[in-house]
Amino acid sequence: MKYSLAIFSSQITVLSAFVATSTFKRTQFGLNAVSRKDTYDVTLLPGDGIGPEITEATKEVLSALCKRCNFKIDLKSALIGGSAIDEANDPFPDESLQQCLKSDSVLLACIGGYKWDKNPRELRPETGLLKMRKEMGLFANLRPAKVLPQLLDASTLKKEVVEGVDVMVVRELTGDVYFGTPKGIDIVDGERVGYNNMIYSEGEIDRIARVAGDVASKRSGKLCSVDKANVLDVSQLWREVVTDVISKDFSDVELSHMYVDNAAMQLIRWPKQFDTIVCGNIFGDILSDEASMLVGSLGMLPSASIGESGPGVFEPCHGSAPDIAGENKANPLAMILSAAMMLKYDLERPDEAQLLEDAVEAVLDQGLRTADIKQDGDNCELVGCVEMGKAVAELVTTLELKVPITV
Ligand code: NAD
Repeated sequence: MKYSLAIFSSQITVLSAFVATSTFKRTQFGLNAVSRKDTYDVTLLPGDGIGPEITEATKEVLSALCKRCNFKIDLKSALIGGSAIDEANDPFPDESLQQCLKSDSVLLACIGGYKWDKNPRELRPETGLLKMRKEMGLFANLRPAKVLPQLLDASTLKKEVVEGVDVMVVRELTGDVYFGTPKGIDIVDGERVGYNNMIYSEGEIDRIARVAGDVASKRSGKLCSVDKANVLDVSQLWREVVTDVISKDFSDVELSHMYVDNAAMQLIRWPKQFDTIVCGNIFGDILSDEASMLVGSLGMLPSASIGESGPGVFEPCHGSAPDIAGENKANPLAMILSAAMMLKYDLERPDEAQLLEDAVEAVLDQGLRTADIKQDGDNCELVGCVEMGKAVAELVTTLELKVPITV
């Protein structure tokens, strides 16, 4: 192979660089980046499509939360995605990046839309997302998939399979075959050959294993590492490093390993066997989407992307839903739950995060449903994005607290 030498030498460079810098700093308390304080600076990225609508609803909820719990979040908007292309001819302008980096945390709605689908790659909304992840060093993606009892019927799987499912997928976000070099399409022996490089350094695996260990130890203590170690050398290294990190530094975590093909099957067959799953970028991309479908609706799924230090980015898993944009039909709950993750993982406000999550469950208990989570004949009340946001804000103000908020 003409590129084998290049792969080998780039492996060595990447390896030494990461081994030297693999001290993970967020492990003291729930991965938090900043100390608890009275006022936080948060950058809001409303993005495209339904983004501005769910952002407004989330702002209203956060405002009610701050009022009740006596702290302040200064929200400042910045451009990303299609709207940034329209205004600044750049899907993630440097000004937005600098503002994000200066903030305590970043809350993103969603990006994309038909209007920009045929643009060249550098002027596509998704390019802005990739730039943001890379420039902010967001190497860990946390995607919970929790089946709420109120929405059991929204899943396409049988009730007895999904009832009680509460899975967290920890996906490595900045390495693997998506970023590995060399890559490209060359002419070899007169025909085109496409290639990418699945590559992980010890340091990259070490730091994602520490995030997963930390997350698992704060949940039920069960961690399943997913790889393809029976076939791939890179997976063999993955398995060795994950085993090493967890056995040495997370004695309270019970680690198991599973091949990715089996994991894809087991997630559908018996998802309750999983608590925390850790995997590389491409396996995580696929498995986190699969796990999210256990829940049933995209409108309910939050996510967090975090780095070794600095602000994380918190965003719903769904896209910009251009088919319903501007019609007050969007479900804002995934973004509200993303704000809860921000409070928990970035702002050291776990009690306030719990209050937001409780308010979301309470609004579902009240029988309010946006169109995406309304089932035929369920006797629930169909509401729009604005009404759903207001109802959650009201509950944040009035709900009886399960745990007293630490002031
Ligand atoms: P999508 O997630 O936007 O929509 C899929 C379906 O789910 C649509 O029917 C939509 O109406 C519905 N839906 C999604 N979120 C909803 C919500 N909060 N409330 C109610 N219904 C909701 O996926 P898509 O249609 O494949 O993509 C649309 C655009 O979004 C594309 O440009 C795509 O590139 C982009 N996208 C962005 C992100 C992101 O911002 N991280 C993620 C995925 C897709």
